[in-house]
Amino acid sequence: MPYQHILVAADLTEECDPVMHRALKLAASSGAKLSVIHVVEPMAMAFGGDVPMDLSMLQQQQFDQARERLDSFSAKYAEVIREQCHLSYGQPRQEIHRLASEQECDLIVVGSRGRHGLALLLGSTANDVLHSAPCDVLAVRLKKPA
Ligand code: AMP
Repeated sequence: MPYQHILVAADLTEECDPVMHRALKLAASSGAKLSVIHVVEPMAMAFGGDVPMDLSMLQQQQFDQARERLDSFSAKYAEVIREQCHLSYGQPRQEIHRLASEQECDLIVVGSRGRHGLALLLGSTANDVLHSAPCDVLAVRLKKPA
């Protein structure tokens, strides 16, 4: 069965392009619909939970910047209609799974870097997304910068 609805998880870095190109090729060959999700993580999460200050203004700025970056990302890919670009707030795995279920996606495409040392211990979003995913997951191997 060809895929019908592919969800691309985009961190909006320059590494998004190879992930997006792979998803576009798959969508073209299977005739699948393509959606994109970017997740803004709560700032408090980066500081490990309790932060003794009000981060709401900074958080709003971060969200606005993410919206701008997502808009220019979707403009770059004419194939992706703006309505199909989702900006979410929360924990990436949860949000990616939630949207994939809601939109009845049958494939999630994420980038995957080779990891070593501490980064390996901390884990990766690709790994995280794979666990209890509601559909297939394709991890696109990202090359290390030369
Ligand atoms: P990382 O494990 O953080 O290096 O990210 C690997 C891949 O996970 C990226 O190439 C994206 O496909 C996905 N990803 C990471 N962070 C996010 C995010 N905030 N929103 C959506 N996808 C993300």
